[in-house]
Amino acid sequence: MLFTHHAKLVHSLDGNLKNDGCWMSEKIVALKVDVDTYAGTRDGVTALLTDMDRFGAKATFYFSMGPDNSGKAIRRIFTRPGFLKKMLRTRAPAAYGLKTMLYGTLLPAPMIAESFPDVLREAELQGHEVGIHSWDHVKWHDYLPWFPKHLTAMELGRASALFEEIFGHRATTTASPGWTVSPDSLEVQDAMGLTYCSDSRGTHPFYPVMDGRRFRTLQIPTTLPTADELLGENGITPENIHDYYCDNLNDGLNVLTIHAELEGGAIRGSFIRLLERLASSGVRCTTLEEAVRQVNEAPACRLFMGDISGRAGNVAIQGEEVS
Ligand SMILES: [Zn+2]
Repeated sequence: MLFTHHAKLVHSLDGNLKNDGCWMSEKIVALKVDVDTYAGTRDGVTALLTDMDRFGAKATFYFSMGPDNSGKAIRRIFTRPGFLKKMLRTRAPAAYGLKTMLYGTLLPAPMIAESFPDVLREAELQGHEVGIHSWDHVKWHDYLPWFPKHLTAMELGRASALFEEIFGHRATTTASPGWTVSPDSLEVQDAMGLTYCSDSRGTHPFYPVMDGRRFRTLQIPTTLPTADELLGENGITPENIHDYYCDNLNDGLNVLTIHAELEGGAIRGSFIRLLERLASSGVRCTTLEEAVRQVNEAPACRLFMGDISGRAGNVAIQGEEVS
């Protein structure tokens, strides 16, 4: 069993205390915020902090620390089947803005974290957890399987050094861009002594076994589909996406990945409606670290790169338990 069964007083938002009995029946949503871009850091993070504060929500913010090379992602039109369709379905050009779509190609790639250290620090000051998303998001997402190990270590090492300079302490968690992992990246994460990572899609916390190799850093997988996977499919729109999430929460831990560029920008109204609905139903939004604290034990599970609906390209997926 993954979560403790101690009786717990749950403070519902109508002001009543209810004895919920156990964690398993309390729905919680751990919010994982991926911050991919320069504009998303500058504008999206601040918007999310305002909205979360309004509803008492907490989250884990994963920051891209190095250059914003978003323009280079355009080459995925040629390399990843379905990428163009997904971009158009989710209106990505409008969401990300023309400038962002040109960074690293026609426009120079701006440095993200060192441009906005106060924005990063503000997230932690407001009681959220902070971690590392990447050094160069696009490079990791598109080329990790071909990285020599020293490059994987260098990407995380550079991000880690700048993180420590900005926050005055080391990062305890990372989340890979595009849920892209390799045995090397898991090995580097083990060597960094992280408390946990959130690199995968799955159902419950686990220790990863990839290509027959066992790793010791706990994985907290994203359990819910992201907005860009849902929008435009099965009648889901920015106006009703909050209904999908509220109807599909499991008892116990749910992990939702949101993007500063989307939920803090183009579909900010949708996210506010979701926060509102969760708060009025007494569902708490927490950091991933809070969820980790409830984990007594976790199984070892196979981790592999595979296909999920709504995404162009492979993501790390939690597989069967390994004894
Ligand atoms: Zn990302």
